[in-house]
Amino acid sequence: MYQEFGIDEELENLANQAEECLKEEFAKVDLACTKNTLTVLQAFQRNKIADVHFSSTTGYGYSDIGRDTIEKVFADVLKAEDSLVRTQFISGTHAITVALFACLRPGDTMLSISGKPYDTLDSIIGIQENPSSLKSYQIKYEQIDLVENDFDIPQILDRVSKKDIKLIEIQRSRGYSLRKSITIDKIETVIQAIRKVNQDVIIMVDNCYGEFVAEKEPIEIGADLIVGSLIKNLGGGLAPNGAYIAGRKDLVELAAERLTSPGQGKEVGPTLGINKNILQGLYLAPQVVASSLKTAIFTSFLLEKLGYEVEPRFDETRSDIVQTIEFGEAEKLIRYCQGIQAGSAIDSHSVPMPWDMPGYTDPVIMAAGAFTMGSSIELSCDAPIREPFVAFQQGGLTFEYGKLGVLKAIQNMRK
Ligand SMILES: *Cc1c(COP(=O)(O)O)cnc(C)c1O
Repeated sequence: MYQEFGIDEELENLANQAEECLKEEFAKVDLACTKNTLTVLQAFQRNKIADVHFSSTTGYGYSDIGRDTIEKVFADVLKAEDSLVRTQFISGTHAITVALFACLRPGDTMLSISGKPYDTLDSIIGIQENPSSLKSYQIKYEQIDLVENDFDIPQILDRVSKKDIKLIEIQRSRGYSLRKSITIDKIETVIQAIRKVNQDVIIMVDNCYGEFVAEKEPIEIGADLIVGSLIKNLGGGLAPNGAYIAGRKDLVELAAERLTSPGQGKEVGPTLGINKNILQGLYLAPQVVASSLKTAIFTSFLLEKLGYEVEPRFDETRSDIVQTIEFGEAEKLIRYCQGIQAGSAIDSHSVPMPWDMPGYTDPVIMAAGAFTMGSSIELSCDAPIREPFVAFQQGGLTFEYGKLGVLKAIQNMRK
């Protein structure tokens, strides 16, 4: 069937065998998808979503009932007191910036307990010197590294029992690091331990790439605030941009006053025609995340069979949608990424090349034939060109498109 797409018969047979072997894993994904679908459906019903919520505002955006109801739906889905879901958030990084600047004041200390955070946070925190960083406002930063992919609980408790930490940051996904994603169970264990010695510290989770991968979200297990991007999981491939912050009502209010301005907070913010896309994206998100997970599991199984180091392995518990593949040489890594691009519906005729991107030390290659620029809930694959030549792949709006993209990439890599 796939020969006309340039996939040879041997690879097609391998793919068919893989799918046969993965039935049990896919059934687990389907079960989580069903539960998350039910959560979304009930949130829509409880909030009486109707045609009127698809309308939108311009200008200041006063009295946007679509926006206000979307924020109730997101809060409901994420089991939060309140949420801020806005097109004015430019990215997940921007939402994290707003959340941190909203919660922290000069003299405060922020503590990361999952090691070094995602690359783009370097300039926000001041790990990378920046005149607008938290550090430039005399906000201090400390970090406790993970130990064997888990929290260093004794050290964390020792540090937070001193009560001078204002905010703890936990990053659920691996980001561009080679560590594992952190499961909800592990996050629950550490939060419970922290609460025994400190009831006041704000616990914030960077939830990017994590939503709907498991059956629970971080707020349900004790986090105060979570942040994520709408061009990842919860946007379901339909949100054109934006991000969310959800959690404790007082903290969401602080974030709103930082995003807009003190005194205006959540009351302003035009939705400029995107309300229907956001709601429909959330409606599809459980299925889209399931497709991304199946694409990742399929990739992991097949590339391991072909002799590559993969992480996570196909049957491991996942907490994000990221799959890494270690190619061991630049040439194969580049050809794999180029194959992902060639297997896309958009910009399939473009050939991505490694380039010196601002903010990165090594050249980076990025394959993303996406409807939404930069969207990584759509099949995408990127990599810094450095030892041991690891690709970070994520997304897949449907499993079938994901599978075809991955097969094209393998074919291209092996040629
Ligand atoms: C994607 C991501 C972010 C935010 O990235 P943006 O591209 O700015 O949306 C933050 N943390 C993690 C772990 C991520 O995966």
